[in-house]
Amino acid sequence: MALEAKCPECARRADLDDDMKEVNCNHCGFHALYDEYIEIMKGRAAVMGDDFQTNSDRRPF
Ligand SMILES: [Zn+2]
Repeated sequence: MALEAKCPECARRADLDDDMKEVNCNHCGFHALYDEYIEIMKGRAAVMGDDFQTNSDRRPF
């Protein structure tokens, strides 16, 4: 069973492989190592205020 991740390119569902090493998006063809994906999503979250989990430590309360 593949885990779900959010594609940073098309914002649809991407699949995280069982080893949590690679992220693949079947919608736009996005592919990255999981570490790379995390770095990408951190950058997107900072810019967009997305609901990515790293935002949870930035709550104002
Ligand atoms: Zn995609």
